[in-house]
Amino acid sequence: MVVILFVLGLVFGSFISALTWRYPRGISVKKGRSVCPKCRKQIAWYDNIPLLSYILLGGKCRNCRKPISWRYPVIELATGIGFLLIGPQILWLIIFCILEIIFIIDFEHQIIPDSFVFAGLFLSLFLIPDSLFGSLFAGFLASTLLVLIHLLTKGRGMGLGDVKFAVLGGMLVGLRLLTVWFFLAFLTGAFIGIILILGRKARLKSQIAFGPFLVVAIPLALLYGEKILAWLYLN
Ligand SMILES: [Zn+2]
Repeated sequence: MVVILFVLGLVFGSFISALTWRYPRGISVKKGRSVCPKCRKQIAWYDNIPLLSYILLGGKCRNCRKPISWRYPVIELATGIGFLLIGPQILWLIIFCILEIIFIIDFEHQIIPDSFVFAGLFLSLFLIPDSLFGSLFAGFLASTLLVLIHLLTKGRGMGLGDVKFAVLGGMLVGLRLLTVWFFLAFLTGAFIGIILILGRKARLKSQIAFGPFLVVAIPLALLYGEKILAWLYLN
């Protein structure tokens, strides 16, 4: 079972890595096989096996020997590990894929596509921890807070994509863990931001998408939220 889940994750990861490359560039997912972006040669099936092909090819295109982007093995491996950790829960596996897609596209292009947020919203109706009303209220509250930040920072601190995504995030974590979710998102955001500034990869004024932190904070809040709340109340 463990092996099947991991392999399934690698396969889905391969699809997600192609989808997240094509979607923001307006290329259809149905548009045939992948080509090498450097030499435009179609990639043979045996060079397109998730993770394995990258290792066997030494990270280089068979035809032109130019390096293959590390995003492919990273996304494939991350999806494989994600599937392993989640286990055989189909709805959670699908929502994981949707959140991963949003994370990657926002990370690489600083946009959160509405269609994936809507797909996640539909699916979240079957996963919500609260009543439907409670969940919608949590989503509404989360997006209201981000709208306020968006207005206060004149759109620089928070994009409207984040505001829409907050409805989905709020519904998934629920009212009880809402504050923990935001706390973790801002904390991881600040942490990575400081690392980037210290590493001179980013300047104080430069834009870092906030969406990826909102995404990462969802599983963190769901897994450790109760512990964090208990710790806060005990102190
Ligand atoms: Zn090539």
